[in-house]
Amino acid sequence: MSINENLEKLSNACGVAGRENQVRDIMIQLLRSYADEIQVDKLENVIAIKKGKANSPKIMLAAHMDEVGLMVKTITKDGFLQFTKMGGIDDRILPAQKVIIYTKKGQYPGIVGSKPPHIQKEEERKKIITYDDLFIDIGAESKEDAANLGVSIGDAIAFDVKYTNLGKDVVIGKAFDNRAGCITMVETLKLLGQTDCTVCAVGTVQEEVGLRGAATAAFGVDPDLALALDVTIAGDVPGVREFDTTVKMGKGPALTISDSGLITHPKVLRWLIDTAEEEKIPFQLESGLLGSTDAARISITRQGIPCGTVSIPTRYIHSPVGMLSLKDIENSAKLTAAAIQKTTKYF
Ligand SMILES: [Zn+2]
Repeated sequence: MSINENLEKLSNACGVAGRENQVRDIMIQLLRSYADEIQVDKLENVIAIKKGKANSPKIMLAAHMDEVGLMVKTITKDGFLQFTKMGGIDDRILPAQKVIIYTKKGQYPGIVGSKPPHIQKEEERKKIITYDDLFIDIGAESKEDAANLGVSIGDAIAFDVKYTNLGKDVVIGKAFDNRAGCITMVETLKLLGQTDCTVCAVGTVQEEVGLRGAATAAFGVDPDLALALDVTIAGDVPGVREFDTTVKMGKGPALTISDSGLITHPKVLRWLIDTAEEEKIPFQLESGLLGSTDAARISITRQGIPCGTVSIPTRYIHSPVGMLSLKDIENSAKLTAAAIQKTTKYF
């Protein structure tokens, strides 16, 4: 299956933080043929191990499987669902979104509703409606009706967005943060072939709510070095200053120099930049970005682990629909696989 087909499958699946099971199942399927062993740890991170030679470095790749989304918090007596946010979502993008509720009886559609603008007072219309004043309308008549449809408190709610190809390499879809990283990890193993290093490719859980899966996985795997495979903001849209970010969609993987949780280990940065230059793979450098990735948590595990991040430039992350270039995924996987082959020269 191509990157396009596998990303479509991953993007359309639900993996709201803490409810990553659909994505985990797909990842196990995709990783199986390239790994010697697959484990699922107690927090339900999936760990695919490709064994190398004894005494060679052990590399951890981390791609988080979860996405930002919503979760049912209460059901009103009239059958409306009130919700909590799982991860960083801007309240301003929520009204009128189509969503899917993942209930014990299967998927159920709904829309995010609010008080109609026609009957809002002048001052109300100027204010941002925060998520606690919004609700999800599933057309139920009562709390009992909603319960009969299978809806329960704690059900995951994802945006109802279907993956779509635009032009040659550009695609739009849900949860590219971080299904783009997940598919990059699969592609990296596919390209890798024989290697001296042992590679542990980890699909982590609960990144969007505080890098939690990465913390336990890194402790368990105990790697010599690690790379997070994630997305980053593509700033090539109107209104973004060059100072804020110079990263552009379609111009190659972004290598983090620093973000709010990680200063990339100098040796890791050298290793990645040298590899990209030797292999003639386009890349972009970024520094001083707010936000972070699994690498931040992994780097401070045990006595400290040299870490870096390879990111796919993605427009409109943490919104219902993102945009990226499949070329950037291809090049991110090429760079990661080539770097792994050169590890022993650096570590
Ligand atoms: Zn992410």
